[in-house]
Amino acid sequence: MTAVHIPGVPVIDAGQLVSTSPATGAEAGRLPVATDADVREAVDRARAAGEWWAGLGFTGRRKRLLRWRALLAERIEQLAELVHVEGGKSVADAIVEIVTAIEHIDWAARNAGRVLGPRRARSRLILAEFSAHLEYQPYGVVGVIGPWNYPVFTPIGSAAYALAAGNAVVLKPSEYTPAVGQWLVDSFAEVVPEQQVFTAVHGLGDVGAALCRSGVDKLAFTGSTATARKVMAACAETLTPVLIEGGGKDAMIVDSDADLDAAAEACVWGGMTNAGQTCIGIERVYAVDAVFDAFVDKVVARAGRLTVGPEGTDIGPITMPTQIDVIRRHIDAAITSGGRAVLGGPSAVQPPYVHPTVLVDVPEESAAVREETFGPTLTISRVRDADEAVSRANALSYGLGGSVFGRRRAVAIARRLRSGMASINSTLTFAGMSTLPFGGVGDSGFGRIHGEDGLREFGRSKAITRRRARSLLPSMTFDRTPTDVARLVKVIKTMYGRNG
Ligand code: NDP
Repeated sequence: MTAVHIPGVPVIDAGQLVSTSPATGAEAGRLPVATDADVREAVDRARAAGEWWAGLGFTGRRKRLLRWRALLAERIEQLAELVHVEGGKSVADAIVEIVTAIEHIDWAARNAGRVLGPRRARSRLILAEFSAHLEYQPYGVVGVIGPWNYPVFTPIGSAAYALAAGNAVVLKPSEYTPAVGQWLVDSFAEVVPEQQVFTAVHGLGDVGAALCRSGVDKLAFTGSTATARKVMAACAETLTPVLIEGGGKDAMIVDSDADLDAAAEACVWGGMTNAGQTCIGIERVYAVDAVFDAFVDKVVARAGRLTVGPEGTDIGPITMPTQIDVIRRHIDAAITSGGRAVLGGPSAVQPPYVHPTVLVDVPEESAAVREETFGPTLTISRVRDADEAVSRANALSYGLGGSVFGRRRAVAIARRLRSGMASINSTLTFAGMSTLPFGGVGDSGFGRIHGEDGLREFGRSKAITRRRARSLLPSMTFDRTPTDVARLVKVIKTMYGRNG
């Protein structure tokens, strides 16, 4: 018997997780739901596979990861179509997402050996008779829990780096996008058929919770801040280290010397790509008084031209039907608290779609300014100057990314934003820069994926000292004499004392 599907809402049907298109309700994927025992078995299998994978060394892994990257590049249209059908995202947005993921696999594969491999560290005078060695060893099995909004980019942002570092990975994709998650692990298995190095377990939130308790050696979570708290609590039971990529409410600041056409173009894309369902999406804009009116006009003109619908449009459906209520509540709250919709508004909410909405004069206390909306909506607020913009941008507990448009002060403003990332005269671009770390502060999480920090996140530092000569100043031994200790005191005062 087949269950009745509400478009987009995943259901469990005869032990299978069934995902459906939020636009049409068409079935997108059907995958077996994992029990607690299945999750533990998957992790046990991954542990054995991980030992084999670690044994391949950086060169062996690099070769295989680059083959996986090539396979994704060759099948990019196929994967984009699946992302589109299962999550509703436009095919063009899906292509951009996959391109970014491919870039990360490539960089992680090519750089893991350099960043994590064994190297000599400098010895200092105080222990000059020892050499120092450092390397980053894999944890073993890394659990990756991912959201639905970027079902390729977010798991790969952790998994590619974890794999390049020599770990096996067990992925729990969002229940909204299990088929995309399975596609990723199946494609990996094509290039690494020997062992199950990268596998997936499917189901609802309880399967994610089981993964936290399954004995994984590290857990990389990307999702909402509320779920992040549960994940941390579960991992605390076994002291399993966690990486948290949480939610955001990213701000864009438009300074008086900004190129307003470029700012409006980037603002509309940064706020409305993927129907606004982007952790680093622009949700709030602070434009200085001198340019506010002209900027708002340009944003409204551009956003008003976006097309909305199931196929070949700029904005697809809202992936999670329940999110529509959040978006509606935020728009209503903005209006009832004195804000105005200069584009869209309450009537823009037409499930499963939300049309572009631009809100102005919204009080800072409003949910539309303070909470993650995750829809194609923007609030634009007038500020006196860049200083006020920065203090308002920094007023929330979230701190993921951000954007600054301007010239003279732009870098200084970007540095003052309380966030892990910022882009100047563009939006979201830091996510595709594989050489840079990605992650937030405050309620947006901690730890970093991407770049060198992202590789180190998935390796344990191993520090080794090795004697290379007799100690001239013996100290770390019971064989030291009172004279040795007195000489040590003299040396330390000479080196580090006030005149040192
Ligand atoms: P959720 O927090 O609802 O879910 C994230 C993942 O956690 C899903 O796989 C979910 O499974 C799983 N999960 C749910 N409950 C538990 C639990 N108790 N223990 C372990 N895992 C659990 O987030 P969404 O999927 O709705 O994703 C949107 C959120 O992700 C937004 O807040 C967005 O900002 C954030 N995000 C952050 C990014 C970043 O890099 N900082 C990037 C992209 C998104 P299931 O789906 O089956 O419930």
